[in-house]
Amino acid sequence: MKKPVIYADHASTTALSPRALEAMQPFLTDDYTNPSTLYQFSRASRKAVASARERIADCIGASPEEVHFTSCGTEADNWALKGIAFQHFSQRKRIITSAIEHHAILRSCDFLRRVGCEILYLPVDSRGIVSPDALESAMKKESALLVSVMMANNEIGTIEPVSQLADVAHRYGALFHTDAVQAVGHIPVNVRELGMDMLSASAHKFNGPKGVGFLYVRKGIAIEPLLHGGGQETGLRAGTENVAGIVGMAAALSEHMETLDRDRQRLEFLRALLLSRLNDSGIRFLVNGSEERIPGSLSLSFYQAEGEMLLHRLDLMGIAIATGSACNSKETVLSHVIQAIGVPESYARGTIRMTLGMDNNEEQVTEIANALIQVLSE
Ligand code: PLP
Repeated sequence: MKKPVIYADHASTTALSPRALEAMQPFLTDDYTNPSTLYQFSRASRKAVASARERIADCIGASPEEVHFTSCGTEADNWALKGIAFQHFSQRKRIITSAIEHHAILRSCDFLRRVGCEILYLPVDSRGIVSPDALESAMKKESALLVSVMMANNEIGTIEPVSQLADVAHRYGALFHTDAVQAVGHIPVNVRELGMDMLSASAHKFNGPKGVGFLYVRKGIAIEPLLHGGGQETGLRAGTENVAGIVGMAAALSEHMETLDRDRQRLEFLRALLLSRLNDSGIRFLVNGSEERIPGSLSLSFYQAEGEMLLHRLDLMGIAIATGSACNSKETVLSHVIQAIGVPESYARGTIRMTLGMDNNEEQVTEIANALIQVLSE
């Protein structure tokens, strides 16, 4: 498949950074040893995993022993929920989450419900924000074992007030987890300052390799092991480490942290440019999400349009975007996020998501806007 000329789907995945690739290279070839072995030959891979753990911990304000490597964000989310539920099942069985979580959380909740947990889904407002007051009311009725609310939404980019939500959870004796897969590497994240108990992240969302992520678990929190086997990850997640992936993830995250502020300004400039071109065209659309959002994230709902049709038409023009709905043979199925924020029916089916990255430029965003205007004017 030909590479799209313009890639505007960075929330889906990102290209591996050259710096990360360079850091990974030795561990794919010469330093291929298993870090758990004791001979000198494995010193390099053992040291590399330890130093990656330190670098990642440093980037999120954690201690190295609180960072546990996983195979992806989905795994980290599954582990956070199931690991806490299975560990503390006998005391409390209630988990509170939001209506707009990623399926890694929602499907884990479905599973936990089947094995006896009670799940409560908090609604969101039209910007996609979970209200700390709504959490407080739910907690007053019956406290929970765990509250899990994402740091930033993958479809509309809205940043959630996780610090305030965690405060409420803690006041009622619950733990707080956040799915920060869209946030880490894109906005400042400090687990101590935010009061997080657990946090999930994934390398391929910040120009790291695919197939690696991590779960931060605050020291002192008891969590059931995810994979049983060897003693890796202090016995909590067995399996020989993905050394190259872990090294690449640390390199990519450190690189993002160095340029966080500059990147935010650039991405917001590109987003504003795209939006102003569309505004000038007179086409009718709504902008979804909150002012507090992931830089460069733009979810739009076009009046009387079909998101999937827009996606395919832009695809033919060499532009890769995402949609907030999917057509099956009979009807358009809206994403749970677009439903939850209550986009009016005449706009909802015409929802698309564009997530810009540092490899986009002014000409590209103008081209995206022109392509949309052309298709929508037909
Ligand atoms: N959580 C959120 C908010 C996401 O956006 C994604 C991926 O899109 C995931 C979890 C899953 O991450 P991964 O692809 O690493 O499994």
